[in-house]
Amino acid sequence: MSVDAIVIGAGFAGLYAVHRSVQEGLTVVGIEAAPSVGGTWYWNRYPGARCDVESVDYSYSFDEQLQTDWTWTERFAAQPEILAYLDHVADRFDLRRHYRFDTEVAGARFVDGRWVVDTSTGDTVSGRFLLCATGCLSAINRPDIPGLDGFTGQVYYTAAWPREDPDLQGKRIGVIGTGSSGIQVVPILAEQADSLVVFQRSPNYTIPMPNYPWSDEDLQRIREEYPQRRKKSAYAPAGTPHGTYHKKALETEAQERAQALWARWRDGGVLFSKTFPDQTSVLEANDIAREFAEDRVREIVKDPAVAQDLIPTDHPIGTKRICTDAGYYETFNRDNVRLVNLRREPIAEVTADGVRTSEAAYPCDVLVFATGFDALTGAMTRIDPVGPRGDRLSEIWADGPVTFLGLMVPGLPNLFSFSGPGSPSVLANMVLHAEVQVDWALELMVAARHRGLAEVEPRHDAASAWTAHVGEAAARTLFLKAQSSWYLGANIDGKKRVFMPYAGGFGNYRTKLDDVAEQGYSGLILTAR
Ligand code: FAD
Ligand code: NAP
Repeated sequence: MSVDAIVIGAGFAGLYAVHRSVQEGLTVVGIEAAPSVGGTWYWNRYPGARCDVESVDYSYSFDEQLQTDWTWTERFAAQPEILAYLDHVADRFDLRRHYRFDTEVAGARFVDGRWVVDTSTGDTVSGRFLLCATGCLSAINRPDIPGLDGFTGQVYYTAAWPREDPDLQGKRIGVIGTGSSGIQVVPILAEQADSLVVFQRSPNYTIPMPNYPWSDEDLQRIREEYPQRRKKSAYAPAGTPHGTYHKKALETEAQERAQALWARWRDGGVLFSKTFPDQTSVLEANDIAREFAEDRVREIVKDPAVAQDLIPTDHPIGTKRICTDAGYYETFNRDNVRLVNLRREPIAEVTADGVRTSEAAYPCDVLVFATGFDALTGAMTRIDPVGPRGDRLSEIWADGPVTFLGLMVPGLPNLFSFSGPGSPSVLANMVLHAEVQVDWALELMVAARHRGLAEVEPRHDAASAWTAHVGEAAARTLFLKAQSSWYLGANIDGKKRVFMPYAGGFGNYRTKLDDVAEQGYSGLILTAR
């Protein structure tokens, strides 16, 4: 099969890329490993999975009628509702017919001006452009713990939760991993389990998320304000309409500061990590917010030793992805829940009937792995595209990802990678982010058609300059103080530790994309047909 554009992935980015390709009159085929659409929201269907950006912002903005017709029921949408939304989008814009589901892309190479893609079904597809909407949190990290194969109970991964929700009532459950996924799933499993052991290697900061159903008045107000809300988000630092407190922490007196922190704490969720404008760049400002959050943990958790174990000691607040929860800290006040600090007693092995650490054995009927992802680069390096001169992505990125604008890679012409390294990605509202990146790629593809270009490829110097800029933007923040973060690839053995997302802000990033396009795609080699 031969088309203009091949799109890998059917999440927010992939569906929009297929839609835009069709709109531009291009022939397109989508390839998706899952049996259906949804991406993240197809795979991560564990109990408690929920968005941490408000539903009305974490949704497409490209079609006003879609925005008006769809009604979100809650402030922070749960996984089933987001999946239902993406199902609706796929049907509404008739996108499914372009997809091959249950099909994995195994490899891709650029031959005679076209991308040739090998799939798990044995078929080969060729396209002029390869649009990789493969996701930044889609390549699952499955730790190789000694003895796991011999475990006789059930094993689940939050990131590949079964479609048929397993009945875990009355079981002895062990959860490994305390990032956002673990923190969301733990309170719910605690209610179902006979006993729950939480195996924590690193604690994370988590902020309670006061979720509630949107009232009719809320929805009416949101509908009226939607245009302004979207306008405010379009060039905002994180792609949402919310800003920081109007004064820096270090320029605000203590009582007013406490009021601002309480207001953000009660409002809940990820925004706490940006209460003050200087919080993610000045350590003293960060300390103020961090100590406030740590006091809340000590207030909620009754056992002071457990509270202490739940408080991170290795990073400023917000420099690893801040988590959001519904009753996480309270869960550790339950009689059937136990926290095991793996820093004190590492896992020695999984036995036939549970987990044995250096100190004790913990019998389990069920093990739940919430152990994260080979984030940002993993889905792309697993495909490992090869360019016309033999450049391989895994080699180009061996010392850390090199990109032009977090969208293109030198040596790999006509290839776009969305939501990946070098773009704001996980630091922004990723739905608007996907729209912006896909629009930019499609506009370039259309320009290539009009100008008779066969190939578009970033210059090495332009990609090096952008990659250096990504590093400089991170260096201006406190992010590099969290050396154990997946933002730096620290969770994957052997992965080069480089801060991967662009920390310069979504709005600035977007302005840069606009500028490059307006300047006739400066930084790219444009090869005529
Ligand atoms: P994905 O949704 O990850 O889709 C990628 C798709 O590509 C997948 O379906 C995958 O199967 C497919 N694919 C990958 N490789 C191949 C291959 N080789 N062959 C075939 N198919 C392939 N972001 C936020 O902004 N706010 C949130 O609240 C938020 N919550 C999240 C909660 C969870 C549990 C997770 C894991 C992530 C969350 N994110 C959140 C980030 C989320 O990943 C993005 O918001 C967004 O959904 C990504 O969309 P995408 O289309 O770029 O990628
Ligand atoms: P994660 O943040 O990487 O957390 C993985 C957890 O597993 C960490 O606690 C990690 O410990 C632990 N772990 C990994 N390997 C281990 C091993 N071999 N032994 C013991 N522990 C191990 O992954 P995640 O929780 O899936 O979240 C990833 C990202 O997805 C989030 O940061 C967020 O961007 C997104 N997400 C968002 C939401 C939401 O609220 N909307 C929900 C889920 C996910 P270390 O820290 O020590 O490596």
